[in-house]
Amino acid sequence: MKEKIYLSSPHMGGTEQNYVQEAFNTNWIAPLGPNVNAFELALESYLGQDTHVAALSSGTAAIHLSLIMLGVGRGDEVLCQSMTFSASANPIVYQGATPIFIDSEPDTWNLSPTYLEEAIIDRLALGKKPKAIIAVHLYGMPYKVDEVTALAKKYDIPLIEDSAEALGSSYKGQKCGTFGDFSILSFNGNKIITTSGGGALATRKPKHKQQALFLATQARDDAPHYQHSHIGYNYRMSNICAGIGRGQMEVLDKHVALRRKMNLFYNELFSNFQDIMVFKEPCNDYFSNHWLSCITFKNPDKKYNPNTLREALQVENIESRPLWKPMHLQPIFKNSPYYGNTTSESLFNTGLCLPSGSNLNEEDRQRIANTILTFLKR
Ligand SMILES: *Cc1c(COP(=O)(O)O)cnc(C)c1O
Repeated sequence: MKEKIYLSSPHMGGTEQNYVQEAFNTNWIAPLGPNVNAFELALESYLGQDTHVAALSSGTAAIHLSLIMLGVGRGDEVLCQSMTFSASANPIVYQGATPIFIDSEPDTWNLSPTYLEEAIIDRLALGKKPKAIIAVHLYGMPYKVDEVTALAKKYDIPLIEDSAEALGSSYKGQKCGTFGDFSILSFNGNKIITTSGGGALATRKPKHKQQALFLATQARDDAPHYQHSHIGYNYRMSNICAGIGRGQMEVLDKHVALRRKMNLFYNELFSNFQDIMVFKEPCNDYFSNHWLSCITFKNPDKKYNPNTLREALQVENIESRPLWKPMHLQPIFKNSPYYGNTTSESLFNTGLCLPSGSNLNEEDRQRIANTILTFLKR
């Protein structure tokens, strides 16, 4: 069996182990410490825009804390992009609130401003103002930032920017992770950089960072004994994980360039096949980190469709995966309200994510190209 080619696997830069070793040498084996502070500083300076970052145990924890800080509770409604990973929506349910799912638009595959506004107007008419909007930069592609931000402002609804897949992406020159009232990042093993597991909350306001850190460390009041006037969480990032993150920040831009190189490779590979579209930036305002490179089949048939291609790749031990299955089609969310048409559903039915790691080499690309070309010519 040939070595497996993964969709997206961890890619260490080289200095990560030094920071982890430093943590061992100084016995900072705790959910706080010098690596955590330095990792937060590196993220703040990378994102710019006077951003304040709290390093947490996961991206999911960051979304959960955002909802808590926005006061989302039992009976509330939260608007959420339907086409996404379930972690965008699950924390809404943790809070006892109801997700209201919104379709995608075809340019960026993200939150449709049209259906977002339709949903807001309808929910207001039903007598309930949504407590938050969760917008996602899917596969690293920025959502329509101007339109979505304008609607959030117009209706005065706080915006949670799920930038878990989009560290290193930007819109009109401004980094993703700086557009929401709360923005979240993920450093899970398959993301553009990893801390093995981890996430972060990025905010515009120092007091929101303080509040996030308070909640993430069991909400301990200022007293010599353990005193609590709030429910707390154990959501802080460990100093070991943050050491990996410090090293990864040194290679982030290099990894973005390598992921974009993979995207270019697919653009060239499919350039002669009019029936297959490589997902690309709609115009120069958008800069995607191309966390994952994705394709869609224009006219899938019995022989040429995402599933037959996925199987052909699998035979060669090459991993590929269907696009995110929209949340409004998930069994667990089948009773949640949905605003939209069939855009996200049709993307799910016609799309495929291809191996996109920054650690893929020329030999891997040859194997992928040969397998895909053989499939297309058969
Ligand atoms: C990975 C991911 C998350 C969750 O991040 P974790 O660190 O795995 O908890 C949330 N939203 C999206 C879109 C993601 O891809």
